[in-house]
Amino acid sequence: MDLDLTGRHALVCGASQGIGRACAIELAQLGANVTALARRADVLQQLVEALPRTHAAQTHAFLVADSGDTDGLRAVVQRLVDARPVHILVNNSGGPPPGPAHGAQVEAFLDAYRKHLVANHVRAEIVIPGMQAAGYGRIVNIISTSVKEPLAGLGVSNTTRWAVASWAKTLAGELAPFGITVNNVLPGSTNTPRIQQIVTTRAQKSGVEIDAMQREMESEIPIRRFADPSEIAAAVAFLCSPAAGYITGINVPVDGGRTHSL
Ligand code: NAD
Repeated sequence: MDLDLTGRHALVCGASQGIGRACAIELAQLGANVTALARRADVLQQLVEALPRTHAAQTHAFLVADSGDTDGLRAVVQRLVDARPVHILVNNSGGPPPGPAHGAQVEAFLDAYRKHLVANHVRAEIVIPGMQAAGYGRIVNIISTSVKEPLAGLGVSNTTRWAVASWAKTLAGELAPFGITVNNVLPGSTNTPRIQQIVTTRAQKSGVEIDAMQREMESEIPIRRFADPSEIAAAVAFLCSPAAGYITGINVPVDGGRTHSL
């Protein structure tokens, strides 16, 4: 199986922690040159220094950008691509704040759309011509299992994830003739700062201890534990590899079996 990404340039977003960080590590491990994008330069600098180097020519870099600042994001990514085409794009950012759909403010929807749907689209539009020229492109969007089954208490998030999944499916059909695949990875509960925020919110609402809430959530997962971020990143890295060249337009839950639908 060909998993070799030597000579490929990967732009990994939301890379300063959690799932994005794990994706940057995994892609570097497969030989890719990784550019890590997020907002904190100091954290990204440390990540870039720590990323694996599997061969002498492999180089890593970072970009500071806010996915909520559409114009700023566009300018930063355009500069990167003008210097070096991107062959692999991992679209990822922080999840929208938890809360029910009923009562959610209009601005919360617009903010989530801007940071996910719009940011993903802006980045993709900039990298696609280089992927077409290379005859190799991989776009992987980190979304959520809520694409298959909306999750209680995540109204704005559920809504935004569907929009991203529908955008990605449409794009997959349009780009397939150029050797560019577009897929979505849907994490279940994964040990990152994001899941700690969700566990804490649920515990406070239910009036139970945080540990008890985590155990309750784990009991709903057939594998009976939260994922390690590296387990999500493994699926992402596979989809970015030459071996996954015939897979496009799919949603891959990596959730320990939690999603009930097919
Ligand atoms: P996280 O909050 O731990 O990390 C998010 C990353 O995105 C960080 O690097 C952060 O700096 C970056 N980021 C946040 N806002 C940004 C912005 N405005 N501009 C640029 N970068 C920004 O999240 P995570 O747990 O790694 O999750 C990644 C994605 O997967 C999120 O969309 C999350 O909702 C989703 N998800 C996570 C879980 C889980 O259990 N952890 C489950 C399902 C879906």
